[in-house]
Amino acid sequence: MAQRHKVVGGNWKMNTNLAAAKDLSRAVCEALRDSPTQVHLFPPFPYLLPVAGVIGDAASPVLLGAQDAFFSPNGAFTGEVSVDMLIDCGVRAVLTGHSERRHVIGESDDIVNAKTLAVLAKGLTCVLCIGETLNQRERGETDSINAAQLTAALAGVPTDHLSRLVIAYEPVWAIGTGKNATPDDAQDAHHKIRALLRTLFGAPIADATRIQYGGSVKASNARDLMAMPDIDGALVGGASLKADEFAQIVRACGS
Ligand code: PEP
Repeated sequence: MAQRHKVVGGNWKMNTNLAAAKDLSRAVCEALRDSPTQVHLFPPFPYLLPVAGVIGDAASPVLLGAQDAFFSPNGAFTGEVSVDMLIDCGVRAVLTGHSERRHVIGESDDIVNAKTLAVLAKGLTCVLCIGETLNQRERGETDSINAAQLTAALAGVPTDHLSRLVIAYEPVWAIGTGKNATPDDAQDAHHKIRALLRTLFGAPIADATRIQYGGSVKASNARDLMAMPDIDGALVGGASLKADEFAQIVRACGS
């Protein structure tokens, strides 16, 4: 079975300002200079270049990420940002399907699919977020929602692009609420997501694909979550805005 190296993302959402973005990225890079765990930082678009300047050299375990990308390469799409533009800024990973884009901005499964295809086609890592709302969980639909979102988002993805896919299972009710899934519940969802990957793409791809857990991950709960066999890292929102706590979460992944 493939050995999966853990990966942790810090999704800053629409937070920080220029000075704070530079300070935070500098503090994270200093704290995690020798980390065996790969780290993605997802600052707001205007701070990509300044944060790229802080992250600097290619040997760092800290890589630059973007919170979104549009699926067309260029053209009359006011306000949108293409994958090539992100590459020009030094971006190595892009989030797609984040619940705030699905449920606040209204992105459909088709849009998430188009963005996922575009990011992977350009050779970047795609961190594809999926997860159920509280109502869906209470109706017992967690697994069917995860399966539907995953299947739709990956439609048409060439299998040789899948080595650059990271999945983030993020139950919507746990994002920014302080309520995290228990390690057993998260493990159960991850195990089923991996089983679906096995059905869709075969065992080698399913065994190699990293599945992050996201939803109120903190220094105090990270170790128990990261100890589960199908949890391969974390996507962190609120706690990624504090360099010390974020570094503790990354260290909780071990190697
Ligand atoms: C997220 O934004 O992806 C997230 C998981 O946020 P939080 O850690 O704040 O719940």
